[in-house]
Amino acid sequence: MPVYEFECKKCKQIFEVVMTMAEATITKVFCPICTCEDVQQQFSPFAAVTARKS
Ligand SMILES: [Zn+2]
Repeated sequence: MPVYEFECKKCKQIFEVVMTMAEATITKVFCPICTCEDVQQQFSPFAAVTARKS
């Protein structure tokens, strides 16, 4: 499964989430440290480039 890397905008922590691409489109990712949902996906060579405007 692809590994998605996210950065929390609040606590600036980088964390990884392993999930399928199908899950990635429906799953609300939140920071495991502060549990906020204000996270930004980091671009990694493994992840497909998806422009999400929502
Ligand atoms: Zn956080």
